[in-house]
Amino acid sequence: MILLLIEKIKESRNQSFIPYLELWKEIEYKKMRKEINNAITVLKQNQPADRQAEQGRQAEQDRQAEQGRQAEQGRQAEQGRQAEQDRQAEQERKKQIEKAMEGNEPHDFYLKCWICGERFLFTVGEQQFYKQKGFSLPKKCEDCRYSYREWPFTGEN
Ligand SMILES: [Zn+2]
Repeated sequence: MILLLIEKIKESRNQSFIPYLELWKEIEYKKMRKEINNAITVLKQNQPADRQAEQGRQAEQDRQAEQGRQAEQGRQAEQGRQAEQDRQAEQERKKQIEKAMEGNEPHDFYLKCWICGERFLFTVGEQQFYKQKGFSLPKKCEDCRYSYREWPFTGEN
């Protein structure tokens, strides 16, 4: 009868029986202890399916979080590189423009828009204004300057 009960408990695969089995084991005689121990072992091995699923979910979440972290790090590194390239390009551009202006009478000249790539006129008047205000050379053409669209274009704007 007791053996049958232990068998039923084993078949239940219900791990919540384990603490009761542990207590039961303490008060049983030797032969029964072996059976109870056996039942405990079986229950511990037969984890409920949903617990395994839970572990799987957790592992998957960890993996995704790790991927997210790595992607974020990559993105930041890429942004840093991009910013550095932009800085260098801007300095290079400034040098070229200063060189072109050297020894010349003030004159209108074209700048290339960093956004749309179109050339736009930077007039003497504007140059003087920018110089007075201490502004750096404009990067954007008039269209892009007054556009609220952000660069880089995603096609969604
Ligand atoms: Zn433009």
